[in-house]
Amino acid sequence: MIVRKAYQFKLEPTPEQARLFRQFAGATRWVYNHMLTERRAAFKAGQKTPTTNEQINQLPILKQQDETAWLKDIHSQVLQDAVLDLDDAFARFFSKQNGYPKFKKKNSTYQSFSYPQGINVNGNHVWLPKIGWVKFRRSHKPKRYREIEGTIKRATVKYKASGWYVSLNCEVDIEQPDPVDITPDNSIGIDLVTTSDGEKFTNPRHYRKLERKLKREQRKLSRKQPGSNNRLKQKQKVARLHERIANRRKDTLHKLSRQLIDENQAIFCENLNVKGMAKGNMGKSVGDAAWSELVRQLKYKAQWAGKPLLQVGRFYASSQLCSACQYQHTELAPSERRWTCPNCGVEHDRDINGAINIHTEGLKQYVAAGLSETLNACGETVRPAKRARLAEARISRL
Ligand SMILES: [Zn+2]
Repeated sequence: MIVRKAYQFKLEPTPEQARLFRQFAGATRWVYNHMLTERRAAFKAGQKTPTTNEQINQLPILKQQDETAWLKDIHSQVLQDAVLDLDDAFARFFSKQNGYPKFKKKNSTYQSFSYPQGINVNGNHVWLPKIGWVKFRRSHKPKRYREIEGTIKRATVKYKASGWYVSLNCEVDIEQPDPVDITPDNSIGIDLVTTSDGEKFTNPRHYRKLERKLKREQRKLSRKQPGSNNRLKQKQKVARLHERIANRRKDTLHKLSRQLIDENQAIFCENLNVKGMAKGNMGKSVGDAAWSELVRQLKYKAQWAGKPLLQVGRFYASSQLCSACQYQHTELAPSERRWTCPNCGVEHDRDINGAINIHTEGLKQYVAAGLSETLNACGETVRPAKRARLAEARISRL
């Protein structure tokens, strides 16, 4: 099976290369805005808007004109990519995924340009056409050295608060293992960041420390004189902190999703609207999009590993159902984190109970869909319920 994998590395350009990066990013933005202006003008005048191919064919003409001759210094495919990028923006607009394409601002912190081909990697250097070999950070410790697999299909150079980065998008042909029968013991359910095994994943302490630091620096920023040099410096400091926090969060989630995929043959999770929930009672940990990022990672990692990931519908009232006796506790208040089943007397942690229910329901749906045969024999709910008691025992020890 062919899959796409992305690798990102921090670049260490020479001052001259950094100047070229800014020039390439600036030209990309200029082409994008120029072509957008054209399309807008044609649309306003009631004329047929130029097609992507027509706009790409314009690029050599622009290079011949005096006022835009500076475009000659930029690699042609980088400029063409800007037109294709605009085409994407329009495609997303027409499919109602996004609003009408906007102009790219000059002072925007987000600067980037892309190559569709011609990229090479040698050790810790990457070849960028018309720029040259650029050094990037790559650990030489054998364990941490990231091997780039497959063929590079696209490279994007972009500027972030902490410097320039390159992301390489590769096409990899992966071998998939033979499918394994799914049982309650080799699969898992997840409700937000709690598993049916009774494990809860919280933000590590260093992460909360960084968040406090961010708040402090943001307060400092608000006290700086508008337009001053100090304010600019402080603004960059805050941007770098934002980036660090985002990186840490992603890192934590990558470790978690890797572990979940490695330890299980199937994963069941709730398919829910995180946006609607963040407003409710679930608190900040969910509101920060950690959940949707985790599901995104689980999806592609499960696909690579050839393991099923099944999302159980939202309609399913996972939190009110007693995972031990299936009694539906409709009076359960959303604020109650722990509760005792009025029917069977089992004590529950709200999240773990939810995760167990998702596990049970996921298995049931999996069997119903005819995806597994061995499960039919052992009865769907009996063993997850046993696991439920195990999980309860584990959590009470915390
Ligand atoms: Zn019960």
